[in-house]
Amino acid sequence: LSTPRTTTTVDTIELTVRALRALAGPFAGLSGADFCQAICRHIVEQLELDCVFVGLYASDTEEVHSYAGWDGQGAMQPFSYALADTPCEHVVGREYATYPDSVQQRFPNDLMLVEMGLEAYVGAPLFDRKGRPLGIVVALATQALATDHPVATLLPLFVETISAEIQRSRAEQELRQQEAWLRKTEAGYRALFDSLHETVYVQQADGRFITVNQGAERMYGYPRDWFIGKGPADLAAPGRNDLEALQRIYSRVLDGQPQTFEFWGRRADGSEFPKEVRAYRGIWYGDEVIFALAIDISDKKAHQQQLEYAARYDILTGLPNRVLLAEYMAQTLDGCREAQRQLAVAYIDLDGFKAINDHHGHEVGDHLLVAVARRMQRAVDKDDLVARLGGDEFVAVLATSSAERLDPRLDRLLQAASAPIVLGELTLHVSASIGVTTCACTHDPSDPDQLLRRADQAMYQAKLDGKNRIHLFDDALEQDILLRHENRTRLREALEHDEFELHYQPKVNMHSGAVIGAEALIRWRHPERGLLSPAAFLPDIEGQPLDIELGEWVIDRALRQTRQWREAGLELPVSVNISGHHLEQPDFIERLRARIEAEPDYQPGQLELEILESTALGEIGRTSSVIQAGRALGVAFALDDFGTGYSSLTYLKRLPAQVLKIDQSFVRDMLEDPDDLAILEGVIGLADAFRRHTIAEGVETLEHGQLLLQLGCEQAQGYGIARPMPADAIPGWIASWQPAPLWLEARPLNHEDLPILYAGVEHRAWIKAIEQHLSGAQSDPPPLDPHQCRFGRWLDQARSDRRLSQSPTLRLIDALHEQVHAEADRLLAEPRSDRVIGEHLGPLYQLRDRLLGELESLRR
Ligand code: C2E
Ligand code: CA
Ligand code: CA
Repeated sequence: LSTPRTTTTVDTIELTVRALRALAGPFAGLSGADFCQAICRHIVEQLELDCVFVGLYASDTEEVHSYAGWDGQGAMQPFSYALADTPCEHVVGREYATYPDSVQQRFPNDLMLVEMGLEAYVGAPLFDRKGRPLGIVVALATQALATDHPVATLLPLFVETISAEIQRSRAEQELRQQEAWLRKTEAGYRALFDSLHETVYVQQADGRFITVNQGAERMYGYPRDWFIGKGPADLAAPGRNDLEALQRIYSRVLDGQPQTFEFWGRRADGSEFPKEVRAYRGIWYGDEVIFALAIDISDKKAHQQQLEYAARYDILTGLPNRVLLAEYMAQTLDGCREAQRQLAVAYIDLDGFKAINDHHGHEVGDHLLVAVARRMQRAVDKDDLVARLGGDEFVAVLATSSAERLDPRLDRLLQAASAPIVLGELTLHVSASIGVTTCACTHDPSDPDQLLRRADQAMYQAKLDGKNRIHLFDDALEQDILLRHENRTRLREALEHDEFELHYQPKVNMHSGAVIGAEALIRWRHPERGLLSPAAFLPDIEGQPLDIELGEWVIDRALRQTRQWREAGLELPVSVNISGHHLEQPDFIERLRARIEAEPDYQPGQLELEILESTALGEIGRTSSVIQAGRALGVAFALDDFGTGYSSLTYLKRLPAQVLKIDQSFVRDMLEDPDDLAILEGVIGLADAFRRHTIAEGVETLEHGQLLLQLGCEQAQGYGIARPMPADAIPGWIASWQPAPLWLEARPLNHEDLPILYAGVEHRAWIKAIEQHLSGAQSDPPPLDPHQCRFGRWLDQARSDRRLSQSPTLRLIDALHEQVHAEADRLLAEPRSDRVIGEHLGPLYQLRDRLLGELESLRR
């Protein structure tokens, strides 16, 4: 056993002073482990101990890691040990543990004590500010220590300082770690900030940039620093942005309403581009700022433009379409008015295009349209516009100062359409109907719709006139259209106010004298203009709904009239004229049936419908089934104005109408026109062959009637019999009417007498030609040689006819004929003047009538 060393109290004081000096002096510059090691060394050396170290608990206080230490040789290598079965175990949570001697014997399991050959142990606990165990300070000696050894005094002197320093350095370390981490994350955010596809700006309330991301560099081509302190005005494409509006946008953003807007930027290289910006309010290092995200929308704009293009151009031909046409016209019309130039609008519709489409298919049709479109575009000036409205309709807008400058272009347009088009093996032909109007023509020159409508109307007229032509719109036509419109309104009122009435024209059998019916003819008793005939108002409602209403009104009135006549003891069928449009109505028969069924005591044939021959031919299948259905209802049918519609035999066979009503134009002229006579004869023969009745209209004179009777047509209607009259005049007229004695005598001619009839008409025709030549209505006179005129030729023939050659009448006729020609020669030789002709024609007519009289007796 070793004797404990002793130290005096003076030593202790001295030691304390030294320790304090060391702490204030050389140790003050140290920190952390260095500081602690300096203290350990100080204690070892001052107290002649073997080893002093500072150990820190691991988190669970079951293990200690050396933090700093000093033994006789120098700084200790770092080491760790478990607390169990060591004197240190007793330090944890306690004040001090002091074992001045025999520490090995006390802790036989602590191998470190044995290894180092230790005899004495002093341990002091370290606590943090909150009193939690931090670690220990341990002093060791290989010799036993005296009980008053100064280590007990000196150690506590350092314990506080060591604790404080350890905590401070730990805090500092934590801070440093935190800083490192912060640095790392900030770099992350910045990378994120820069890698965004969008350009990001952080802006002050006035828009100036606080910072921007790399996207801004990419977008504008300026380095990032360039932006700082600049504002949107520095980025704006000149003249393309409203910067004042932008300030208003920013203030809305700062009010908390995120905003999206477009902005035209200008890059460092001067190029301009559109971008879309979304701006939000945000906080940046404590300040209220604007966060703005922008993307380049050049592509989107281009796409938009593409869409706009598609909306304005025709896909097939590439020509402007209806939309662009309207825009262009609106603009150009304004321009034209200012420049006092004229604008012509040509409405172009291809003729015969449908047939090509039908025969060759749509693909060929499309090719043709493209070809024509190209040609037309070349046909106009570069300031003109050709647009496609759709289908085979185009519009050209031509600027011009005069009609002369316009004409060649219009002609070229016409040619562009009509020149043949070669597609592979095919050579196609179409033409165009072009309607033209100019802005000078309209009442409101700035209304494009009006112009187009007028051009369209003119085009329609070009079609009617025979196609492949140009028709200029004229104002009179327009006036007419307006008037028709007004008239229609007025006509509807007339129907409502019951201003229409029916007049009736008797139809008779000239041979028997029987009155066989009456034709109902509409009249308008106009409050100011008096009684108007149908020609004055029917054309205005043709094809209109009013046409049908009026037609039904007529049927209704006519049926009521027949009922009233029957009640008065008169059985008289009535004929009603039916317009084509009315007849075409799908429910025509249904409505007719309803009306007939509503008529008490309806007799078959009481109602006859007159259908224009031309209408009936239009849709012959339909018309014939309407006629059939109507006949089943007991309604009779007549083909009106027969002879003007050019019915062929086959057509006539298919139209089950009982009556052919011979048009008055043939009747009127049959006395003087051998062609009309021939038609009349033909129609009557045709009707006979098909077992139809004929009735002649327009019988104005006894001679008309006589001739018709001679041809075998007994039924007639006309001024020569009676004019149309109010219904209540009919019974009185019937009671008093008597056919002319001439008609009662008249008989159908023998076949061989027909040439004589024609000869008479030829002669009348010749006289009429002389008369017309004298009055100047006809430039050439008829043949003046008595053997050259048609009558003369017939006469020459008749002289060789066995039956006639011996007739004294023929010789008389021959002489009269010579006289007629001589008289005509004399008249032609005289100086012409109306007065002279009037005086001198009398003898000619007398000769004619004598001749015709003799001719008639030749027949008998
Ligand atoms: P329309 O069917 O040919 O009728 C005969 C027309 O000739 C009537 O003219 C009649 O007054 C006239 N007329 C009769 N006899 C003679 C004559 O000897 N000489 C001459 N020069 N004319 C004669 P209106 O009444 O003026 O009717 C004209 C046309 O109007 C009719 O021609 C008919 O097509 C149509 N119309 C008349 N009433 C109606 C109606 O109620 N409905 C329809 N849809 N059309 C009607
Ligand atoms: Ca008629
Ligand atoms: Ca007629």
